[in-house]
Amino acid sequence: MAELYVDGAWSTARQGGRREIRCPADGTLVGTVDEASADDTAAAIGAAHRAFHEGPWPATSARERGDLLLRLADLLERDAAVLARAESLDTGKRLVESEYDVADVVSVVRHYGRVAAEESGRVVDTGNPDVVSRIVHEPVGVCALITPWNYPLLQVSWKVAPCLAAGNTFVLKPSELTPHTAIHLMRLLEEAGLPPGVGNLVLGAGMDAGAPLAVDPRVDLVSFTGGLATGRSLMAAASGTVKRIALELGGKNPNIVFADADRGAALDLALTAVFLHSGQVCSAGARLLVEESIHDEFVDELVARAGTIRLGGPFDEKAETGPLTSAAHRDKVEAYVAAGIAEGAVLRCGGARPDDPALAEGFYYLPTILDGCTSAMSVTQDESFGPVLTVETFADEDDAVAIANDSIYGLAGAVWTQDAGKAQRVANRLRMGTVWINDYHPYVAQAEWGGYKQSGIGRELGQAGLEEYRETKHIWHNIRPQAQRWFGGVAGSSDEAR
Ligand code: NAD
Repeated sequence: MAELYVDGAWSTARQGGRREIRCPADGTLVGTVDEASADDTAAAIGAAHRAFHEGPWPATSARERGDLLLRLADLLERDAAVLARAESLDTGKRLVESEYDVADVVSVVRHYGRVAAEESGRVVDTGNPDVVSRIVHEPVGVCALITPWNYPLLQVSWKVAPCLAAGNTFVLKPSELTPHTAIHLMRLLEEAGLPPGVGNLVLGAGMDAGAPLAVDPRVDLVSFTGGLATGRSLMAAASGTVKRIALELGGKNPNIVFADADRGAALDLALTAVFLHSGQVCSAGARLLVEESIHDEFVDELVARAGTIRLGGPFDEKAETGPLTSAAHRDKVEAYVAAGIAEGAVLRCGGARPDDPALAEGFYYLPTILDGCTSAMSVTQDESFGPVLTVETFADEDDAVAIANDSIYGLAGAVWTQDAGKAQRVANRLRMGTVWINDYHPYVAQAEWGGYKQSGIGRELGQAGLEEYRETKHIWHNIRPQAQRWFGGVAGSSDEAR
């Protein structure tokens, strides 16, 4: 009880709202948590606003803030097993995946702990020895951090760590479906010594707990990761008070396989690209583009292997992937597949719920491959966010690039070929924030992440991830001020003044 964290204290929702969290793998009750109303969010914004404008935090040295993040990284590492288990129960994903995710969280927090203190501004040469001109970085202010359910703690860490490194205060609103690791994180921030009001947590539905963050004039920045429709509405809402806005949205990411690719690796990674976490990955390689000459062989093999993928819950060590996050989400994936078949796609495998009675209580959906697709179909343009691969063919390099770029999204993509020149040419021409060559899915905390086109605005991770949370100020200091008499004209003619 009391899972909202406001002004350095744990509190319950003012209107008494509670939400049950159930494991998507089998429907068991994981816990119940507070469900914030708009009033709770307003109180959290008030606390963050006071901490920013009246508290010591924004003026702490970058080194102190970095040290706090390094302490946090150690605490996360200490609690890694508990966090991984909690993440798996909320999301239904395999424990081993949650363990990797928590290790990534530690790396991200440590990365920002180190870079926080590295760079603090620069001096500009004005050509005038009587002037000192400096460029300094300052925090933006109160940041609203809104995150999704697919990588709950990882998405939170991508925002909280650079936000604190830059000296901001925040209100975090994680997905209502997966709140437990965010609650744990706030406990660790408290233990690491975060001053009251600097970090605040509200839990609950987007419309109640989240929407007020985008319109409240006391919030300076909204950093959001989630779906395109929500991102558009947040951008519109934030425009009323001209907030800084960073959006990490969806993707429909092409995985391009040329005939000269290393076939074994391309097959393995084509499966990982789309079926990892049952496709609930923003950068999922859900759009396979395969060179015409190898289509039949390649897709036959893919279908055969997809048909053997073993589904199961977080603690089933033989499971290769898990359930979808909710019944509503599975309904959406089913409707997406039905629409694809209706517009002419050929169902090669999956397209149904598993009939294993052991999985009946979870929101499982079989790995699905839709062949014979074209970019004119909605199924190749829309994100399913499920275990569904669409297959298209291409004739040559230009054709592959044209098809891959035919999308409103531009988050990520991959190209498979043993011709290094072709790989580079294609990577250069893809309009996407990340391109993998002969690989799929890896990322590092030191390299920027973000989308082109409608996949988003701004960058996370790397140095640019920190820039999102900083304002840049030019300070011009005249160290030898002199009377100038531009106005009033007592001392000379207007020519002199000029
Ligand atoms: P979502 O947009 O439904 O929800 C995301 C968050 O926004 C949740 O916390 C939700 O409560 C909140 N929210 C919803 N409506 C809101 C509103 N009106 N005002 C304020 N907050 C609101 O997305 P989701 O279903 O949780 O996540 C899946 C989506 O996230 C997919 O489209 C996926 O591609 C995207 N995603 C993108 C990245 C990336 O790095 N680009 C990473 C992960 C997920």
